[in-house]
Amino acid sequence: MPFEADITIVAQALDRFYNDSISARKPVIDQKRLDQVVRDLDLEYYAKKGGLEGKKLQLFLDKYLAYNTRLHHPAYLGHQCAAPHYAAALGTFVNAFTNNVSSIYEMGPASVCMEYFLINWMLEKVGWKKAPTTLAHRVKDQDFGGGVLVDGGSLANLTALVIARSALVPDVWEKGTPSNLSILLPSKGHYSLAKAAGVMGIGAEAIRFVDVDEMGAIRPDRLQRCYKRTLQEGKRPIALVANACSTAVGIYDPLDEIADFCQENALWMHVDGAHGASALLSNTYGRLLKGVEKADSLVWDAHKLLQTPSLCAALLLRDHKHLDQGLQISLDASYLFHQKQQPGFDFIHRTLETTKSGLGEKLFFVLGALGERGLGKYIDRQYGLALQAYDYINELVDFECPVRPQSNILCFKIKGDSKTQMDIRQRLTDEGRYYITTVLFNGERYLRLVFMSERTTLAHIKDLIGEIRKIRLSLLKDAKEQLL
Ligand SMILES: *Cc1c(COP(=O)(O)O)cnc(C)c1O
Repeated sequence: MPFEADITIVAQALDRFYNDSISARKPVIDQKRLDQVVRDLDLEYYAKKGGLEGKKLQLFLDKYLAYNTRLHHPAYLGHQCAAPHYAAALGTFVNAFTNNVSSIYEMGPASVCMEYFLINWMLEKVGWKKAPTTLAHRVKDQDFGGGVLVDGGSLANLTALVIARSALVPDVWEKGTPSNLSILLPSKGHYSLAKAAGVMGIGAEAIRFVDVDEMGAIRPDRLQRCYKRTLQEGKRPIALVANACSTAVGIYDPLDEIADFCQENALWMHVDGAHGASALLSNTYGRLLKGVEKADSLVWDAHKLLQTPSLCAALLLRDHKHLDQGLQISLDASYLFHQKQQPGFDFIHRTLETTKSGLGEKLFFVLGALGERGLGKYIDRQYGLALQAYDYINELVDFECPVRPQSNILCFKIKGDSKTQMDIRQRLTDEGRYYITTVLFNGERYLRLVFMSERTTLAHIKDLIGEIRKIRLSLLKDAKEQLL
């Protein structure tokens, strides 16, 4: 097996890729047509003949990597995916080769331990009680937190809501979903929550939206009214979901006040912290999550702000019992579920998946390399840069920002222009100079920057603004010529 030689080839190719990215020698994005890429990479040939190793592997990788969008690039301001730390990629690689999974202990003792440890590490950051690691203390009815790593925030949100439903309707797994269930969401809730409502047979139409302020944050003073109205309709909300932070503009809901309301009304509080829960590691921004410890469940993606490759999302619960009992399986899987003597822990009953990747490796290797302070510093830098960029853009006479950022997400648009934001993004993407996204917020389309790369600086943002002005002028000129 040309194992070592091929690993060296891969490492060298990735090193070139990384250096070309951070030095901006190559465009941040370069989308070619699908058929061209398939042809250029000779996928058909290798699928038939094999032999992708050695020199061929090297040539192949260089081509392949050239088609990749470069998340480490300073002009990468696109979606909320991490620019991974190389150590996290190493962890992923190691686990991919051993293929130890974390569903059952005997199939991945090291993986399970890493995941168990990380869940406890995260529980502690939230302010929840860690699960005991000595089995003698793992008394089922004892009070402590629990969690599991799953493939993404969407799946974690779904799992959280399924568990909240089990808490409200204990016989739901036998009898099915009652027709009067509902979910309370802010209107800026992530679309995966509406998807979950569909999957769970609740139906997106049964969602009730709670009132939000002009930034899209939940208004705690209006919760009582929304809740009452929902009950009067005959609906039973399985949970109230709060954002930490919202995907569109990165605003945190006031968790502390929402939690008090939920506790008073015995309502399950789920915090969607897929993007912003990582601020718990920051001394400066951790306060944005004040009150999260009073919630019932929390989703926290590592593959967004913890420099971890996709996917690695934590579902955390204040009380492990809900998680251990909330996904009741009555079907036969006797090859998995049986009495056995084991020195560890099985995660299988905590997830919708059966075989479950070893996800702890993705996060642990970067945590182990940087330490929690290092990850906290990264958050501080990215959140701080968004604020600097806001201060700069918001002062310009020809631009406006809808909200002052609370995270590493910043939205803005050309003042008085509600038409060209999409065209501007298209041009930027075509040119490959900058990769940004857009978002609809309060009925207006905005340009949206997510600061993921550690290489992005304020100078890049100033340059981007210059580019946008140029594109706008050229768009105006094109429009004029069309009129003539
Ligand atoms: C990204 C995001 C999700 C979805 O997470 P995935 O890991 O992409 O599935 C859910 N909620 C919020 C608030 C997010 O930002």
